[in-house]
Amino acid sequence: MANPKPGDFVEVITTEEKITGTLLQSPELDKNIIILKLSSGYNIGIDEKKIKKISVTQPAPKAAPEKEKPAAAPKASSMLPKISILHTGGTIASKVDYRTGGVVAKFTPEEILAMFPELKGLAAIDSRLIRNMWSEDMRFAHYNVMAKEVAKEAAGGADGVIITHGTDALHYSAAALAFALENVGIPVILVGSQRSSDRGSTDSALNLVAAAYFITHSDFAGVAICMHENLSDNAALILPPLKSRKMHTSRRDAFRPINVPAIARVDPEQGTVSFLSEKHAKKNKRSPVKLRLFNEALKIGILKTHPNMYAAEVAAYTRFDGLVLEGYALGHAPINAIDEHTGEHKKILAALAALAKKIPVAMASQCIYGRLQMNVYSTARDLQAAGIVGNLSDMTPETTFIKLAWLLSNYKKSEVKELITRNLRGEITERTEPNSFLI
Ligand code: GLU
Repeated sequence: MANPKPGDFVEVITTEEKITGTLLQSPELDKNIIILKLSSGYNIGIDEKKIKKISVTQPAPKAAPEKEKPAAAPKASSMLPKISILHTGGTIASKVDYRTGGVVAKFTPEEILAMFPELKGLAAIDSRLIRNMWSEDMRFAHYNVMAKEVAKEAAGGADGVIITHGTDALHYSAAALAFALENVGIPVILVGSQRSSDRGSTDSALNLVAAAYFITHSDFAGVAICMHENLSDNAALILPPLKSRKMHTSRRDAFRPINVPAIARVDPEQGTVSFLSEKHAKKNKRSPVKLRLFNEALKIGILKTHPNMYAAEVAAYTRFDGLVLEGYALGHAPINAIDEHTGEHKKILAALAALAKKIPVAMASQCIYGRLQMNVYSTARDLQAAGIVGNLSDMTPETTFIKLAWLLSNYKKSEVKELITRNLRGEITERTEPNSFLI
């Protein structure tokens, strides 16, 4: 058998089929498996025992030397509106490392701009890196970094800000910024991508260009998310920062609005922006942003109710500052001792009541869609009597988590329990629209 190296494009003939792809490094723990990256982007493992023949059809390209210095940022034309792109990392700023098959965060902001020349025609682009991280590593401190950088750009005269961000925890950051940036008079649009920017199938071009198009062709002000509307590459949705969620692990249209319609649809190629929601805040560059930041030392948990739950799970949060209880449906938890198997449920109720005396415990529904109705069944009435708050909220668990952290950072503990169910920034709607399910 030939001796192909990682990075080579190979043809493999097995006992069952013929497969072509880029050879990746074999896994440490199983050297008898070879891994191929297929043209679809997926990796497959093939047992060496099944391989009849493997041949190199194209040797690995020589690795390009790392640039010492990033290329200078493209000069902006002063007649165009000014957009500042703040990069935080994620797949959008990454390339596939064809030797390992992994995705590495590698692009400089300047390289991203060079890759998407459409952006330069739309606006005078300023671009800088404020972090280079995966979004799963974001902490409250990073929300403060982003909020302060946005405020700096707004004060410096930017007409809009785009934040490039990993998608995994993007909806948490969007919610955090929507609370932290009070009275922001310019659009602040978070953009991610599911496929790295160096791939032919990348979704970052549409997401970035649509965000820039929306900023320059609408009167919208405030925080929003811009991601693909569907699987084709023509329209992006502008999504509400406090009512959206990543609903699929890999599809380019993974971000969906929850319980409300999207804010707008943008088709930069056709040159259209269509608003889908009735109201939005309007641009006002003179409105000074008030920063209401996060207390970075807060400990907030999320506990999901599940069958066979134990009171010890609730007690684990005793030293926390707040807890989101991701309960069942209308706002339920296993607290009814109904037979010889459910004695633990009495202890769960007691643990919840003891915890709610110390810290705010806010209910959110693991259904994701819909509204809490904690007066319908006795279970939720008993939970309310035990001090659990949140009745009538239609916030996602993620928004409830961010709101609880932000309230505890900015208000007295005694106010938090009342404010959690009061709509402050569009996070709670008055009515649930029947046509807002699974859109
Ligand atoms: N887990 C990474 C992140 O969220 C990669 C996924 C992505 O960028 O979309 O940053």
